[in-house]
Amino acid sequence: MDKQQEFVLRTVEERDIRFIRLWFTDVLGMLKSVAIAPAELEGAFAEGIGFDGSAIEGLTRVYEADMVARPDPSTFQTLPWRGDRNGTARMFCDLLNPDGTHSLADSRHVLKRAMDRAAAKGFTFYTHPEIEFYLFKAPLSAGDPLVPVDQAGYFDHVARGNAHDFRRAAIQMLESMGISVEFSHHEAGPGQNEIDLRYADALTTADNVMTFRTVIKEVALEQGVYASFMPKPMAEHPGSGMHTHLSLFEGDRNAFHEPGAQHELSRTGRAFIAGLLTHAAEITAITNQYVNSYKRLWGGAEAPSYICWGHNNRSSLVRVPMYKPGKGNSSRIEYRALDSAANPYLAFAVLLAAGLKGIEEGYELPEGSAEDVWLLTDAERRAAGIEPLPQSLDEAVRLMERSELVAETLGEHVFDFVLRNKRQEWEAYRSQVTPFELERFLPVL
Ligand code: GLU
Ligand code: MG
Ligand code: MG
Repeated sequence: MDKQQEFVLRTVEERDIRFIRLWFTDVLGMLKSVAIAPAELEGAFAEGIGFDGSAIEGLTRVYEADMVARPDPSTFQTLPWRGDRNGTARMFCDLLNPDGTHSLADSRHVLKRAMDRAAAKGFTFYTHPEIEFYLFKAPLSAGDPLVPVDQAGYFDHVARGNAHDFRRAAIQMLESMGISVEFSHHEAGPGQNEIDLRYADALTTADNVMTFRTVIKEVALEQGVYASFMPKPMAEHPGSGMHTHLSLFEGDRNAFHEPGAQHELSRTGRAFIAGLLTHAAEITAITNQYVNSYKRLWGGAEAPSYICWGHNNRSSLVRVPMYKPGKGNSSRIEYRALDSAANPYLAFAVLLAAGLKGIEEGYELPEGSAEDVWLLTDAERRAAGIEPLPQSLDEAVRLMERSELVAETLGEHVFDFVLRNKRQEWEAYRSQVTPFELERFLPVL
């Protein structure tokens, strides 16, 4: 048993923890949990806990249903919303096959593999997600009109507003779980909030995103409201993005920073952006995985629709934030397509793979766009070489199925599962007769 495992066993005993939740994420990014008693812990570390994987989206085919979850002791954390006495703790798990090999359906492992590839070139990948979400008045059932908890807007301070109390409670809970929050504010939509997590290596931030979603939903329930990470819950209001800031470090040096270069951005940084732009369309089914994601991407309100980059240009897909003098290590780029419902492990993996490809192949970065790309005409955008992102899940899936980069990064099993699952989602969506059609056509046709 290693030191971390011993630490977990000791803490469980000292703090009288009665339930240990083993967490893992399915291929679609849904958190799964199985609770074990403390007496099972040693065995769980040694061999993992067996379960039937066929019940879980994307994990296995029925004929190879047995699956093993082995907890990662470095992710041990008590769960504050379960009270102090007879407490509950959680650990994220790696998923294994019964023979001890890594499961090909483990999205956490997909990200680890991508990060190992970067590590072989001397890079550590860091991410910093800005997570947006809506708070609605509960109860909420599908088909009811949505009632946001307030009518405030961007950065508004709502007097006695529940959004304020909500953010305070949520942030306290996150910090008590060791997740640092950098920034939080009311977002542009009514009831919409944003909380930005401090940057860390991408595996840690992906775990943190999963914890974050759970914490936000728990705090919302405690306060009698309902939190949603749906990309575009209301047509007339902004969607919920998960803009993510990306950087590569070589040791303790930020590989994107070069003093004196344009925007202080190194060749490595430029090639990384070029990789993101070149492969943006084919990775979009992963960064924006739902039918509804495309309502956000094409619904205006500062969500990106076109593949271009800009220095501080909020209409572009990739934004290079203003450089703060003396802060070379904070050099980073912001990828703005990601939405709050993405599987963070898979999304970070394809972003890293696209950027690395740019570095390996020495892609040249085209001219950045200084103007608002939404204001250009189609002809002007074409002349500037600015292509659109996919306009629907259908288009995104068609682009992904031809992508070697995505196939390689996800591995065959996850790649096939996502394609199959997303084609089904599109078919189910396409076969609907919508209220829009009935309102528009029934009276006149
Ligand atoms: N809500 C916008 C989006 O969907 C982003 C607003 C912002 O710039 O923070 O991407
Ligand atoms: Mg925002
Ligand atoms: Mg942003």
